[in-house]
Amino acid sequence: RKGKNSYCLYEEALQHQRLPNVFLLADLHQTVKQNMDGFVLLYQPIVDVRTKAVSAMETLIRWHHPSKGIVPPSDFIPLAEETGLIIPIGEWTIRQACRQHERWRRQGFIPVRMAVNVSVKELHHPQFAARVEAILAETNMRPSWLELEITETIAIYQEATILANLRRLKEMGVRLSIDDFGTGYSSLAYLKQLDIDTVKIDRTFIADCPHSHYGSIITSTIISLARHLGMNVVAEGVEREEQLEYLREKGCQEAQGYLFRPPMPADEAAGLLARSIER
Ligand code: C2E
Ligand code: CA
Ligand code: CA
Ligand code: CA
Repeated sequence: RKGKNSYCLYEEALQHQRLPNVFLLADLHQTVKQNMDGFVLLYQPIVDVRTKAVSAMETLIRWHHPSKGIVPPSDFIPLAEETGLIIPIGEWTIRQACRQHERWRRQGFIPVRMAVNVSVKELHHPQFAARVEAILAETNMRPSWLELEITETIAIYQEATILANLRRLKEMGVRLSIDDFGTGYSSLAYLKQLDIDTVKIDRTFIADCPHSHYGSIITSTIISLARHLGMNVVAEGVEREEQLEYLREKGCQEAQGYLFRPPMPADEAAGLLARSIER
């Protein structure tokens, strides 16, 4: 991390490996206690493969730590999941996303789907669907504007509380998306059982397209599967034009990645949205 022209003692490196969790957890608690001051949401567009128009925005959380700078979600979401802090953090995230969507609507932007990442731990909470319902009401959000992205795991179709929450959300009209599709416990059964709206092809498969046989076959098979089941399919981590061409050729509807835009602050993301009344 320090770059090439430096060295550090092994002992120091060890400390960096072992100690931060304790401190980080204390800071995480503090941030939650102080009304989430320090968490920020970025927005990354999901675009239509053919027209390149924005069809959705995915919210991605960042933590502006007082001394460490920006901490990525991979460093604190697992900690939040282990300790239960993901419950208030997750609720805050959904509320912020819906509020932002409302703000954009008020500013005259045509509504697009708002995709929010949800941890399986949140879905374990018996009140999850009810809380989402309350947030939708608070923010005048049509349920179909909200798309919850869930990473596939075996739990999502084995645990009664999770299933009950997902069924309730579907009844309300909230959209469900399976994130990192193809990497977890893939069971095609739940796609139908849970009436999944969107599958997101994991970026490790996209990275291999179109040159690796393996990645390409998996990608085109998921696209074909999703299309035959009438689901929307998003390719994530699209970085090169040739990948986009491949996806277009295979009939993938939507794509997301650095080729288009990185995750960005709300004001910047708004610049990509279309207005209902052009001014
Ligand atoms: P994810 O949901 O699979 O999100 C996609 C990740 O890929 C994001 O990393 C995004 O910045 C990154 N990305 C986007 N385009 C490209 C690309 O073209 N190439 C590459 N290499 N990467 C790209 P990020 O923001 O660091 O988030 C990492 C993970 O943290 C997310 O993976 C998601 O699982 C989790 N996460 C983020 N925000 C939240 C949240 O609010 N709640 C929960 N529970 N998890 C979150
Ligand atoms: Ca996601
Ligand atoms: Ca993903
Ligand atoms: Ca993920």
